[in-house]
Amino acid sequence: MTGLHGGIDAGGTSFKCGVADAAGRLVATRRVPVSLPEETLEGCTAFFREQGPLQSLGIASFGPVDIDPASPGYGTILKTPKPGWTGTNLRTAFGEQLGLSVHLDTDVNGALRSEMSLGAGKGAASAAYVTIGTGIGAGLFAGGEIVARPLHPEFGHVPVRRHPDDVSFRSNCPFHEDCLEGLASAAAVALRHGDPAMLAEDHPGWEVEADYLAQACRILSLTARLERIILGGGLIQAGHLVTRVRDAYARQMGGYLDETPADVTRLIVPAGLGQDAGLLGAILLGMRAR
Ligand code: ZN
Repeated sequence: MTGLHGGIDAGGTSFKCGVADAAGRLVATRRVPVSLPEETLEGCTAFFREQGPLQSLGIASFGPVDIDPASPGYGTILKTPKPGWTGTNLRTAFGEQLGLSVHLDTDVNGALRSEMSLGAGKGAASAAYVTIGTGIGAGLFAGGEIVARPLHPEFGHVPVRRHPDDVSFRSNCPFHEDCLEGLASAAAVALRHGDPAMLAEDHPGWEVEADYLAQACRILSLTARLERIILGGGLIQAGHLVTRVRDAYARQMGGYLDETPADVTRLIVPAGLGQDAGLLGAILLGMRAR
């Protein structure tokens, strides 16, 4: 069957809209900057109308957001500091404008969904997708499904042990002095060292970062015995970081699970779809829900 399938990766600073053909190949994309809700939604609907009628639309959204299909508020942005956005229902707004039923999940679950189908999680029976950007979030996949829905994990706030070279840094999380997001998000790295993209590969800050991310992988691995832990988000653009995380993870595990270096290389992997993961996940969500 021919027909176009739409998706929106609804991020905090821009909504990335895309249209794919029946085989799931992207044929057009447009980035709409986030301003007030009406303007942003108008920019997105204009793009979709230009592309022609859609068979489906899926949204992978920033949070907090109601992702429970059984809830009357399914698709509603919950309390957010973004002006005007609290209470905006993305699903009904786009549904009314485009005349179709819309499906919505979190941005992290969106990326997890596409990584499982098309990217670094392909072929794995269980996996976690951890995004390390301004914040840190994780989605879990096991038994053929995304785990914890209609809620979602709050993995960014698990406690981590302070690195000995990092005792004086003030956590970037307003709630916790010692959580993963507060110490290891890209925002936390930027507070210590400036823009992470400008940080030299041999800067000692990377070892501290790798130590925290390795603790996160250790928690995931020991809790759920996952086949794959996929690391994504802006900070992973620094390709050497994944290697450092693997090394730190192996040291921290102390041989407990008898994992060889090859096992660890298979376990901890960089995301395969890069910046398109959320958008492709949104499109898949809409296609499969039909
Ligand atoms: Zn926290």
